[in-house]
Amino acid sequence: MFQIFQKRLHFKTFNLSSLQATIQYLQQIDIMKNNKGWNFDNTYKKLPQDFYSILDPMPVEKPEIILFNSRLADELGLDFSETDQADLAAIFTGNQLPDGAEPISQAYAGHQFGHFTMLGDGRAIVLGEHLSPHGKRYDIQFKGSGRTPYSRSGDGRATLYSMLREYLISEALHHLGIPTSGSLAVAETGQPVYRESVHPGAVLTRVASSHIRIGTFEYASRFLSREKLSNFLDYVVSRHYPDLEESENRALSLLKCVAEKQLNLVLEWMRTGFIHGVLNTDNMSISGESIDFGPCSFMNTFDPSTAFSSVDINKRYAFSNQPGIVQWNLAIFAGTLLPFIDDDEEEARKAAQEVIREFEPRFKDEWYRMMGKKLGFSKSGSQQKYLTDQLISWMEKSKADYTNTFLVIANPDETPGHFKANQEFRNWHDEWRATIEKQQGGISEARRRMARLNPLFIPRNHLVEEALTAASNDGDYTKFHSLLEKMKNPYQDQWVAKDLQLVPTGFDEQYKTFCGT
Ligand code: AMP
Ligand code: MG
Repeated sequence: MFQIFQKRLHFKTFNLSSLQATIQYLQQIDIMKNNKGWNFDNTYKKLPQDFYSILDPMPVEKPEIILFNSRLADELGLDFSETDQADLAAIFTGNQLPDGAEPISQAYAGHQFGHFTMLGDGRAIVLGEHLSPHGKRYDIQFKGSGRTPYSRSGDGRATLYSMLREYLISEALHHLGIPTSGSLAVAETGQPVYRESVHPGAVLTRVASSHIRIGTFEYASRFLSREKLSNFLDYVVSRHYPDLEESENRALSLLKCVAEKQLNLVLEWMRTGFIHGVLNTDNMSISGESIDFGPCSFMNTFDPSTAFSSVDINKRYAFSNQPGIVQWNLAIFAGTLLPFIDDDEEEARKAAQEVIREFEPRFKDEWYRMMGKKLGFSKSGSQQKYLTDQLISWMEKSKADYTNTFLVIANPDETPGHFKANQEFRNWHDEWRATIEKQQGGISEARRRMARLNPLFIPRNHLVEEALTAASNDGDYTKFHSLLEKMKNPYQDQWVAKDLQLVPTGFDEQYKTFCGT
């Protein structure tokens, strides 16, 4: 932030000589300080009104700031260093709106568990689009800020527990190197939220490159004119994929780009064991960031069918189903773009289907490449694929911990556990080691490669629950902050991995996560 002031200072002093101008300049700095660096430029509001509703966040009774993310504030070019706690709380609950904010709730629809539904921001408000000093555009959104025209029977509010969860998980994903929306702040409202029991209420300030979802296209395609859908397509291309503006077939190119982004995203989830939990089309962003964490979790024991969400009874969104679901969602997206892909419906369908069909083999190739890197391989040949397949089936059969297995493979002498006692694992490890030794750089180079992709720490379910329960029920944030701190450097200290994270026996078997709370 200071650098921005400096830059402006240089510019101004270069032109100023009179006292009056200096005073003017100092006043300007004062305004900037009060403004904290907010720099809104709200383009979404220029779309037809069908895409949003204009409304302010509902004021809250007793705002109290709980968490503030300085790292993200710096990235955004915001400076709250001279703002007191009361003002921070007022700002991040919506009681005090920043200059330039033009709050809206966005309309969207979506396929939830396979069924089309009209949705929209039922408890969220986009304050506006902030431009960072680097010229990057971010939506600043409040979640839990009160009822909106899209609330249906909901109360528009969010529990402290679930907002802390989103803060923790989005920070963890960020530090794991996974594209994600960010969490700038959590503030308590001082008002109770009624769920199965009474909870403290809170507002999360969420930051994302936009909140445009596949569901936003579904909404426009189903309910608005072709012209409005076409304008929206223009808007999305220029906001997210400006390189496609000159493309001969922008709709098809957009589909390909979004498919590529989503492929890379789901690959990252598969790398780290992340389970989004509710991969409805309204929870899949056009930008390729992870958004809308509700019942998300991380898989401990390797089991492709792992699904912790209490509402995911048929395990539609289980760990290993995620790539297939992403492909399914992309097919829904493709359906909304057909009129712009080709005037001939049949031709349009064929072109779109090709992109969707390609997704599966492309994902498989990329998955083997990614797993190969996790295993330290420098190339992705048949031996490497064979070893990957062997390891996967061994992990599943022996209920190995997904995260720890890769740490043990890299550091068998440094890590405790039952792995080494397992003859089948030892045989596999010998073969793996022989393959690694044939590569340039041998084991040391492989270890270096592995350390970049295999986290030592993930937010283990039992730790997340302990931290959230203590914070939300007792106001004790000790565990929360210590977990958050650990998650800031998940790839650290790989070579002294003596303290592998261990999961209490039986915890995951009972574990359930909840959405929309
Ligand atoms: P989510 O599961 O967070 O993706 O939410 C699905 C839909 O339900 C979205 O339209 C949300 O805005 C809406 N929703 C979730 N919780 C609430 C709530 N407490 N009040 C109003 N709408 C909600
Ligand atoms: Mg959602």
